[in-house]
Amino acid sequence: MKILIVGGGGREHALAWKCAQSPRVARVFVAPGNAGTALEPKVRNVDIAADDLEALLEFATREEIGLTLVGPEGPLVAGIVDRFTAAGRACFGPTRAAARLEGSKAFTKDFLRRHRIPTAAYAAFTAATFDPEYVRAQRLPIVVKADGLAAGKGVVICDTHAAAIATATGMLGGSFGAAGQTVVIEEFLSGEEVSFIVIVSDQSVLPLATSQDHKRRDDGDRGPNTGGMGAYSPAPLVTPALRARIMSEVIEPTVRGLRADGMPYTGFLYAGLMIAADGTPNVLEFNCRLGDPETQPILMRLQSDLVDLCEAALAGAGALDRIEARWDSRAALGVVMAAGGYPDAYRKGDAISGLEAAARLPGKVFHAGTRTDPAADAANTTAATSAASTSATIASAVIPAAMTLETSSVVTSGGRVLCAVGMGDTIAAAQHQAYDLVHAIHWNLVQYRRDIGHRAIAPAP
Ligand code: AMP
Repeated sequence: MKILIVGGGGREHALAWKCAQSPRVARVFVAPGNAGTALEPKVRNVDIAADDLEALLEFATREEIGLTLVGPEGPLVAGIVDRFTAAGRACFGPTRAAARLEGSKAFTKDFLRRHRIPTAAYAAFTAATFDPEYVRAQRLPIVVKADGLAAGKGVVICDTHAAAIATATGMLGGSFGAAGQTVVIEEFLSGEEVSFIVIVSDQSVLPLATSQDHKRRDDGDRGPNTGGMGAYSPAPLVTPALRARIMSEVIEPTVRGLRADGMPYTGFLYAGLMIAADGTPNVLEFNCRLGDPETQPILMRLQSDLVDLCEAALAGAGALDRIEARWDSRAALGVVMAAGGYPDAYRKGDAISGLEAAARLPGKVFHAGTRTDPAADAANTTAATSAASTSATIASAVIPAAMTLETSSVVTSGGRVLCAVGMGDTIAAAQHQAYDLVHAIHWNLVQYRRDIGHRAIAPAP
């Protein structure tokens, strides 16, 4: 069968790499993909943007794609699953209605309150209803959130009432575009942050391996928030007892609530949780897709066929309950290598060196913001074509010949550029392997954290 992966980041590289390992899969297309997916055996990039739903459906129909997996939230919130399903194409993810769990924070807070799922106290306002007195009456610090999708930037933790009022007024005044037409003002929660990701098929739930990410840019969890600077799996913080609480107090009431509200959920569901001192798993947010970079270490540990798991979830009628996910008992840890300046304005077009050397080391480097440099590419494509023509057994549409491309022609094209994942019997060993990969790779002003996994690694006695 043929698979289509929608998206072009590190998460999508990991999804494509994993799906390509399935003996049932002949080819994986990635729209639009990146330089890393272009180099992956059985995988081919397609020049269609992740949010061009009509072009994606047209491609899936023409190529008779058997299963489409959607990486980013944008197409899900825009209704890609509804569109594909109406056209008779299997597409794994929640419907547009259910994807509002990520698409609207006010919707989610109302949902959590209605179904008595633990979360921070809050109030939602529009420009017409905003009440600065409400803000002044709250304890500090206080959290101000834009309602809609804001690429991870729509959450501001304010230390003064004046700052909170100014932030909310700015959002309502259009600083976040349509995403800020409604704001949520929320109680600040302290505790340990945990991500918990499951596959949902209506009332059936299959938890993935636990993971934890690092959102801040700098060592010691300081500096600005980012899309994620690294992640590891398993997360020792999620003990069997905590896992049981998360399942019974968050995940199960959520899937029951979605069904009761007329929007049964299928797809990956990511709960961002703040674990209070008494162990209460408070929901900070839901994502209606896999996390990036958590996906990279999680999928490195998945031994089962991901295509089988997604198809079981799509089949419904409890098929997901009858399938088991097998996990490598080793730990996996991914370090994100980012472009200079990220998460603010960052450099693009810097040549990346050392990818070949890294490819010879244990572990795996997933690409995110990379592309092949067209100038260097022209020469390499010629070489690749002649290599392909010498082998009659290579189907012309597949790109194993691309494996001969000089990876030295790869340049940076996004903020988060690579995610180097190591594995080991302990998180410390996985960390060691990941940093060996990182140290093999270089470009101008590359930045990465040197302490990914520190919370899970006991300090030396
Ligand atoms: P969100 O997109 O809602 O998960 O928020 C992004 C980040 O802001 C989270 O990962 C937390 O680190 C932080 N955050 C969000 N809401 C709260 C809250 N109520 N209390 C403390 N920190 C929060």
